[in-house]
Amino acid sequence: MPEIGVGHENSTMWKLAICWVLIVAGSNCATDRQEAAGAPLLGSTAAPDRKSLIDQLEALKEVRNRWPGEKVFLDVEYGADPAKSDFRQRFGSIARRFDIAPPDVILVKPPMNKDGKPRPQKPDAGIAWGVIDGKYHDVVFITLYLKTGLNDDELLAALAHEMGHVSQAKKTGHHPQDVHGRKLENEADELALSCPEVDPAAFRSMVIRVDRLADAAGRAHPLLYGDPSTAVIPVSVQNKLAFGGDHPMTSARIKRADAEIKRRAAATPSSGQPGVATP
Ligand SMILES: [Zn+2]
Repeated sequence: MPEIGVGHENSTMWKLAICWVLIVAGSNCATDRQEAAGAPLLGSTAAPDRKSLIDQLEALKEVRNRWPGEKVFLDVEYGADPAKSDFRQRFGSIARRFDIAPPDVILVKPPMNKDGKPRPQKPDAGIAWGVIDGKYHDVVFITLYLKTGLNDDELLAALAHEMGHVSQAKKTGHHPQDVHGRKLENEADELALSCPEVDPAAFRSMVIRVDRLADAAGRAHPLLYGDPSTAVIPVSVQNKLAFGGDHPMTSARIKRADAEIKRRAAATPSSGQPGVATP
């Protein structure tokens, strides 16, 4: 734990070294950043025991507040399903491309109400990190509502954006203040779109769907967003009005995806018959 020096004056580093830091950096990012405090370190294994990892995260108030509900690992959920092998491979190669260890993707199921019925969720995603055995370990959270609202290509686009944040965190030494802000959100989108594994058309529809999912959730469950007006004024519109949001506007994200669609189309030879002269 080299970060913990006796008399270290930088309390943020010290916090980073002993805590999980939750960065709100999702497909439907809110505007804030939350720092978690008081988490004990995981055990001394290099590969963290997964049950212990979940327990560590659940011990954090910020995680319980923002990501309530049962947490499972996406790869466990997918298991050995051959239909998901392409998804798994593309996920892994995006991580290699970004020069990061593939983060654990934690799927957050909806919490249950008193009657045993699932409570509403936001279409949310975000990253968190903590120091385990002296090394940073990054996780990506996604809600089940987000996952079920997206197809695999769209989900991969959303995860590529989150992995972009992981690579930013790595580059900036996991300093929370450096992995925050609209510039970094734009950059995470650019990173995702730069991956050949990510279909820019899927990225585009992901952005649109996330807005729609948020609007539907806000309409049906206004208190989910802590604002009854979401029943009348869609969440996407409110996000647009609230200029303080870190995420670029949906329209700007669509534009960026469109530019990449165009760029790839131009880079791909349109003739399927190379060498065949057409009269
Ligand atoms: Zn983000």
